[in-house]
Amino acid sequence: MMNSPKHQSFRRSLAWVSMVKHIRAAGGFSLPHCPACNTLFYPPQRFCPKCLNGHIEYQADTGVATVLSSTRLHVTFDETFETGAPVQVVNVRTDTGVTLFAFADEPFSPGCRVAVYLEGDEVEGAESLHARPLLSEIRGEKNDELE
Ligand SMILES: [Zn+2]
Repeated sequence: MMNSPKHQSFRRSLAWVSMVKHIRAAGGFSLPHCPACNTLFYPPQRFCPKCLNGHIEYQADTGVATVLSSTRLHVTFDETFETGAPVQVVNVRTDTGVTLFAFADEPFSPGCRVAVYLEGDEVEGAESLHARPLLSEIRGEKNDELE
């Protein structure tokens, strides 16, 4: 089993902190959403990357995604993640069309179906996105229902 990154609390952007607070309050997973142009996006940021609207909301999202690529990082220039190396990182596209990176406990193959979630509730500032296999993927089923 891969090591999990040993995060330390470090400075996060205000947009990231806002997203984490929303996810914690709402439960489940959410992505930043611009109500002016109806765009979902990631990473969280102060202004909409499409229309520059400054009023950003959050939209509940299942986090269900398809793996685009997977890699193992042995060396990182970010000391936050040094103690956990090597770490598995996947690039995924959610079913709602947002592409993002997440940590993973296993080297998923491209095309695998996963669910992205926020991990690290115990230490503020140490949260990160992780991907886990869908139960249907484990069972070898084609059904993508969340367990
Ligand atoms: Zn917008």
